[in-house]
Amino acid sequence: MCIFCSIVNKEIPSYCIYEDDTVFAFLDINPTAKGHTLVIPKEHCISFLDCPATLRNHVFEVAQMLANRLEKQLNCDGINMLSNIHEAAGQSVEHFHVHLIPRYKGDTEIIHFHETKDIDFEELKRKLK
Ligand code: 5GP
Ligand code: ZN
Repeated sequence: MCIFCSIVNKEIPSYCIYEDDTVFAFLDINPTAKGHTLVIPKEHCISFLDCPATLRNHVFEVAQMLANRLEKQLNCDGINMLSNIHEAAGQSVEHFHVHLIPRYKGDTEIIHFHETKDIDFEELKRKLK
């Protein structure tokens, strides 16, 4: 069984901050910042890509509610909300999860995207539209 399914089933302890019939949220064990939270569906799915629509929508509904709660209760100055999809993108646990990472002024570990050169925008538009 996957580690997050074990957390949902309370076989592994966690600092749960929200739970309902289908969604579970808990504090990340290796927080990048104070209040780093993971929001997950109770039902196992691998990533954002294979999560059934109704459940996916509820995960994001809970994520929004908790992001507002983090801002209010922790007085953070911003939040990163992200979900890694597959190993190449940094996903280490193959159970869909949304990270909520509170950000505080002066944080050093901010996510930056660096520019990639040699992109054919016309080709990409043909493929993706
Ligand atoms: P990923 O790298 O897949 O996007 O994120 C997985 C996250 O799960 C990591 O930030 C990691 O610290 C967290 N994590 C892994 N195992 C456990 C655990 O047993 N308990 C908790 N609370 N978090 C975990
Ligand atoms: Zn699982």
